[in-house]
Amino acid sequence: MSQTASVRSLDEISSCLSGYDPQALPVEQARAFIDALVEPITEQEKLPLRSALGRVLAEDVVSTINVPSHDNSAMDGYAFRGAELNADGDTRFSVAGAGFAGDGVLSAIEAGQCVRIMTGAIMPADLDTVIPQEFVQLDGNQIVIPAGVVKAGDNRRLAGEDLARGEVALHCGRRIRPADLGLMASLGKAEVTVYRPLRVAFFSTGNELRSIGETLDDGCVFDSNRYTLWGMLSQLDVQLMDLGVVKDNRASLTDAFERAAAQADVVITSGGVSVGEADYTKQIVAELGEVLFWRIAMRPGRPMAIGRLQSRKNGNTALLFGLPGNPVAVMVTFYAFVREALMKKAGSVGERLPLMRVKTTMPIRKRAGRTEFQRGTLAPDAAGEWAVSLTGAQGSGVLRSMSQANCLIVLGHEQQSVGAGEPVDVMLFDGLI
Ligand code: AMP
Ligand code: MG
Repeated sequence: MSQTASVRSLDEISSCLSGYDPQALPVEQARAFIDALVEPITEQEKLPLRSALGRVLAEDVVSTINVPSHDNSAMDGYAFRGAELNADGDTRFSVAGAGFAGDGVLSAIEAGQCVRIMTGAIMPADLDTVIPQEFVQLDGNQIVIPAGVVKAGDNRRLAGEDLARGEVALHCGRRIRPADLGLMASLGKAEVTVYRPLRVAFFSTGNELRSIGETLDDGCVFDSNRYTLWGMLSQLDVQLMDLGVVKDNRASLTDAFERAAAQADVVITSGGVSVGEADYTKQIVAELGEVLFWRIAMRPGRPMAIGRLQSRKNGNTALLFGLPGNPVAVMVTFYAFVREALMKKAGSVGERLPLMRVKTTMPIRKRAGRTEFQRGTLAPDAAGEWAVSLTGAQGSGVLRSMSQANCLIVLGHEQQSVGAGEPVDVMLFDGLI
């Protein structure tokens, strides 16, 4: 867990930022820097299949069997040889037997015969086609298939169609989702090797903050960021350490940063990085590590601190994300930078959040030279096409409109104002928040 000689200094990593103004750093450059800064953890553990949901695979999962293991029927119906179908008239088969899911292979089906077959049952030897039962007429012990309702090879699932033996079913670095659990179960895999969970410590800073249950004195607000952060982090299957509300004084902040650095892989704070407070936080974190203080060309969420802390007690190193204090800025900077960094640190690959292009129902004002994240509501328009509208007040302290929104409209650095009906990028909350 301790820092190794191969770890690059922040100066080296930030060489990718040369030419950019740290007082107005474009979002894409900040992301590139963060990507270069984050080194994935390597420690692994073995877990029973279900416990691995949401965790990151530390091995390639290779199929040891064909899935499905035999050609089988995709429908309830009748199986026969496709070559015996009449092109221009009815085809008759006599029903020679029945195959159910879980039965062995039926054999010795003669020309002119078919087999009653259920979904998932193994295709009898030499038979290659299934007609769904609703397309046939029964005539005593025979079925009658009208011309043209089925082609040779229809409604048959081929052995190994889902996965062939020896094929990589899931690659190392995959964050395990429900379909993956099912896929591994279909291979008979009982245990999986995953990376150990990421440890994330977080706290809020500010003398004006009160915790739920405390009296709200004049000029104070309840600390909401720790709840938002807890919620966002809980979606990511990381281990959480909530270090509470920390007062803006040297002793409390030093103690909180030290405790966090000693225990966590990643430390996330809110508040204390804006103009007027940053200098103070800078002094304190400078004693514990290397931290850069940026102003990012984005809205909301301009100020941000990013770097590495090292515990003086046990030498553990942790990444630090010092997020702004404004409640909406916390969420936006989390999704713009922190989520992807956490996932990379956890060993997961390909975690960039997708953006979708949809039309905006209304004009959106935007200045070139910064990335804007505006709260939006995505809904079908009168023609049934999904379109986005701005949601209420966009101030960076207005959490209510974040709660009402179901997406963020992402307007890129160079983008200028957008007219009604024009396309914009949106980042969906569903499945995310
Ligand atoms: P700061 O970045 O510390 O200057 O905070 C900016 C604004 O966000 C101020 O109005 C703070 O009161 C507010 N704020 C900071 N931290 C929190 C928090 N944890 N919960 C709610 N509001 C906060
Ligand atoms: Mg503050």
